[in-house]
Amino acid sequence: MTTVAVDTPGGQYPIHIAPGRLDALAQSIPADATAVALVTNPTIAALYAERAEAALARTGKRVVRIELPDGEAHKDWQTLNLIFDGLLSHRYDRKGVLVALGGGVIGDMCGFAAASYMRGVRFVQVPTTLLAQVDSSVGGKTGINHPLGKNMVGAFHQPVAVEIDTDVLRTLPAREISAGLAEVIKYGLILDAPFFEWCEANAAALRALDPQALTYAIQRSCELKAHVVSQDERESGLRAILNLGHTFGHAIEAGLGYGEWLHGEAVGCGMVQAAELSARVTGFPAADVARVRALVDAIGCPVVSPDLGADRALDLMRVDKKAEGGEIRFVLLPEIGRAVTQRAPEAAVREVLALTSCLP
Ligand code: NAD
Ligand code: MG
Repeated sequence: MTTVAVDTPGGQYPIHIAPGRLDALAQSIPADATAVALVTNPTIAALYAERAEAALARTGKRVVRIELPDGEAHKDWQTLNLIFDGLLSHRYDRKGVLVALGGGVIGDMCGFAAASYMRGVRFVQVPTTLLAQVDSSVGGKTGINHPLGKNMVGAFHQPVAVEIDTDVLRTLPAREISAGLAEVIKYGLILDAPFFEWCEANAAALRALDPQALTYAIQRSCELKAHVVSQDERESGLRAILNLGHTFGHAIEAGLGYGEWLHGEAVGCGMVQAAELSARVTGFPAADVARVRALVDAIGCPVVSPDLGADRALDLMRVDKKAEGGEIRFVLLPEIGRAVTQRAPEAAVREVLALTSCLP
C-alpha cells in the first residue's frame, strides 16, 4: 500500500492508495466513533456499497446508508438536506462519522454535511472517480452549487482519511478517465517537469488502466496537491496555481452549458489555451506548447475549443469565481514544471481564442 501524508492547519490525515482498499475501510474509522453513515448514490451503490458496508461492519459499529440522487444537477440544498434527514432520523450524535463513497459530487456534498452537522463531525473520503482520487477528495474544499453559481456555498473541512481503491476505476466510463487524467498532467505542468515527462511516456498505459502506472500517477498527484494545500489551505496565494487551464475551461463549460463537456475535458483544452497564452506572455517555448497539446490529445481530451465568440468567452472568464474585481487572472507557465498567476493583455487572449477555437 502507498501512503501520502497531508498536513494542513485544518488537519493531518493519510491518503491510502491500493487495489482492494475498499475492503479495509474499517481501519479509517476512529475508535471512538459512535456510528457510521455511508453516503453514496444508486450508481455507485449498485457496484460497491455492499462491499463497503461489509468492511465498515467490521468496526462493530452501526452502519446506515444514505443514498442521494446521482448527478451534478443534484448538488444542491435539497439533496444536502437528505443527509441531515438521515443523520437526524437515526439520531447520529457528534461522534458519528460520515463516509463519502463516490465521485466529486458525493465527496463535496458529504464533506459539507460533515462540516455543518452539529457544527462539524468527522468524515472519510472514499473517492471512486479518477478526478476525485487525484483532486477533489484531497484538500478539504466542500460545498454545493447555487442556481446562480457553481460551488458558491461551502466550507473548508478536512477529512480524517482518504481511502483510494484503484480497482474501482475499472467500472468508470473511458471519458471520465480521460477527464481525470487532465488534472493529473496539470500537476506536472505546474510543479513537476519530470512527472510531466513520465506522463508523456505513460499516457497509453494510464488510459489502459495499467495498475502500476495508475497507482504512481495517483500517488504523485496527491503528493503535489498535498504540498500545495499544506502551504495554502484556504487559497490566499499558491493554491491558485491549481487552476491552470481552468479559466479558459470555465468559459467552455459555462458557454456550452454545464455537462456538455466534462470538467476535466474543458480543463484539458484550457491547458492547451493557457500554454498558447504563456507563449505570448511569459515566453513559454513553442516546442513545449506542442508537447502540451500532444499530451492532452494522447490522454483523450479535446485540444480545440468550441467557438463561443471572443467577446462572450471573455465575459464568461470575467464572471468566473477566480476573477477578482472583474479582472481576469490567468495561471501561466514560464516553463514546464513552474506556474505563475498574472494578468494577460486582452489582445493576446483574443489571439489565443481565435487560434484554438473552431466553429461547431
Ligand atoms: P461525479 O461525482 O458526478 O461522478 C461522475 C459519474 O461517475 C457519476 O455519474 C457517478 O455516479 C459515476 N461514478 C462514480 N464512480 C464510479 C465508478 N467507480 N464506476 C462507475 N461509475 C462511477 O463527477 P466527478 O468528476 O467525480 O466530480 C465532479 C465534482 O467534483 C464537481 O461537482 C466539482 O465541482 C467537484 N470538484 C471538487 C473539488 C474540490 O476540491 N472539492 C475539486 C475538483 C472538482
Ligand atoms: Mg479542476
